[in-house]
Amino acid sequence: MSSSGPRPPHHSKARGGTLQGATGRGHCRRAIATVCLSGTLEDKIAAAASAGFDGIEVFEPDLVASPWSPAELAARCADLDLSIDLYQPFRDLDSTDDDRFARNLRRAEHKFDVMAQLGVDTVLVCSSVAPDAVDDADRLAGQLATAAARAGDRGLRIAYEALAWGRHVSTWERSWDAVRRAGSPALGLCLDSFHVLSRGGDPAGFADVPGEKLFFLQLADAPRLAMDVLQWSRHHRLFPGQGSFDLPGFVAAVLATGYAGPLSLEVFNDVYRQADPARTAVDAMRSLQWLEEALALREPASGLIPPPAAPALSGWSFTELGVDGVSGLRAAEVLAALGFTHTGQHRSKPVQLWEQNHARVLLNAYDNRADVVRPAATGVASVVALGLESADPGRSAARAEAMSAPVLPRTRGAAEAELSAVAAPDGTQVFFTRTVPDGWPADFLPTGQQAGPGAGITGVDHVGLTQPFDSFDEAGLFYRAVLGLESQEVTELAAPFGLVRTRAVTDPDRSVRLALSAATLRRGGWAPGVPEPQYVALATDDLVATAAALRAAGAPLLPLPDNYADDLEARFDLPAEVLAAIREHDLMYEEDGAGGYLHLATEVLGDRVFFEVVQRLGGYDGYGTADAPVRMAAHRRRRQAAAVPVPRWTDPRGR
Ligand code: MG
Repeated sequence: MSSSGPRPPHHSKARGGTLQGATGRGHCRRAIATVCLSGTLEDKIAAAASAGFDGIEVFEPDLVASPWSPAELAARCADLDLSIDLYQPFRDLDSTDDDRFARNLRRAEHKFDVMAQLGVDTVLVCSSVAPDAVDDADRLAGQLATAAARAGDRGLRIAYEALAWGRHVSTWERSWDAVRRAGSPALGLCLDSFHVLSRGGDPAGFADVPGEKLFFLQLADAPRLAMDVLQWSRHHRLFPGQGSFDLPGFVAAVLATGYAGPLSLEVFNDVYRQADPARTAVDAMRSLQWLEEALALREPASGLIPPPAAPALSGWSFTELGVDGVSGLRAAEVLAALGFTHTGQHRSKPVQLWEQNHARVLLNAYDNRADVVRPAATGVASVVALGLESADPGRSAARAEAMSAPVLPRTRGAAEAELSAVAAPDGTQVFFTRTVPDGWPADFLPTGQQAGPGAGITGVDHVGLTQPFDSFDEAGLFYRAVLGLESQEVTELAAPFGLVRTRAVTDPDRSVRLALSAATLRRGGWAPGVPEPQYVALATDDLVATAAALRAAGAPLLPLPDNYADDLEARFDLPAEVLAAIREHDLMYEEDGAGGYLHLATEVLGDRVFFEVVQRLGGYDGYGTADAPVRMAAHRRRRQAAAVPVPRWTDPRGR
């Protein structure tokens, strides 16, 4: 890609330079369509500029609704150092009715006036969806050429895009055929990854298109869904790296043609239409940073400079629970019953270190965010921080910064270790650590209690965090881009209180696993389940023995209904002694084809956190998701029992 790599757009002052020469920063020009962001035009351009975008696509309805004149918008963008790279969309240009086509040309001339004021030279014309759309290839090319000639006379150009639901032009090959037949220098293609990939288009075919005929590139990812393509596009587009499309492969094929314009995001999505545009813009920027890294690694000669590689993660150094005077005592009691020992006390903060082999839990009664010690008696306990073992914590922090995840400011005492942390989308702090004697453990003074034999818990298997629905996709990309984790398949399960969507992220060695979940719809005040549950899954090599030890120690294990074990007996050919242990200790079991998973849960401590203890058998690679509905119902039952007596069910028919 050395001679045909990404270059600035043709209208840039740096015409013809290499990408690096154009930006001096070793990355592509990055743009975002205003339709991606919520709010008014003023909100949108402020968000785009603040996230570091180079340019925008002006979505016409945003301009129409704005009090700014086109010239004023251009001036505001110039103030923010944003270029205007595209005006879009112009719909339904061609027509089998000559009078209507003439009126469409007149409409186009008005838009060319607007473009002149905006200082943008490219307009997106999408393939017609109108009943009078032209089917004949030569007639369509002729009308496009006529419009392009009008644009060309004014120094403007038309980028023609095949909508996946266009009436006659719905594939990129048909749009290219029209552009080629038209043979107009002011007419080229707009390739939109959604429109191409949603129809199973093959980017390998781009090799037949000269780079100078690729006028614009719009990028969107999407989850793989079997649904009407218009609805899929309108509600479910995602930023690159959040869905199932091969965006690096798509963009590599485009850049190989010599495409010289920006990488521009065009994402319609129900969440982003409503979300804080500043936050969405950062998520969007991170998606391009992730994408460009993939391109840089794929094409070392591209001139793209990748961020520092994500250092290998080798496990959990700690999981930190934020507690108060009530939940802290309860959590300590439960940790003791789970075989943990309170081995350390923080030098300067009300933080306890509890250990059992490689499993470490911090109980933090100090609220970092509010900079105060939490008030007692609210009963709150939640996962507030994750400590990850990094091969190079400094480089982990540098990578996070390069992926638009700034390192959090922290207060620390004179003798305390310097720890870098970043904030995940749900607010959880993620620390990059090394558990060495002079590392973070040195911040804890010994309590004098020696770790006992424990209950067979060896470490942390994974942590489960409910995400706010609006940040579910953002979180997947965050862990993928910032930590270099792999995103596993998104699944949905029917839980007692609503559908739950899950996605796990993990490193290749499976030493760090996070199970993320979100309720797909949360409406109304009837919320009998545990709201936004979180859990720490502790690992054991022998769950039956561990469960017996926990029961003997009085750990608050979650009772399960007999129906569950009966169903297991029907579904699996389990040895009698395993089934007996499952019944005796309220264990759960599932299989994934590669192995089995034995697990148990504790009751909820406070209002949302519980522990699991898990044993992976064979190559099981899941998270016990299939058992989650049973566990959720059991949690509700325990909470009801603790709150008010459950009335006995009486048959209304009196039987
Ligand atoms: Mg598009």
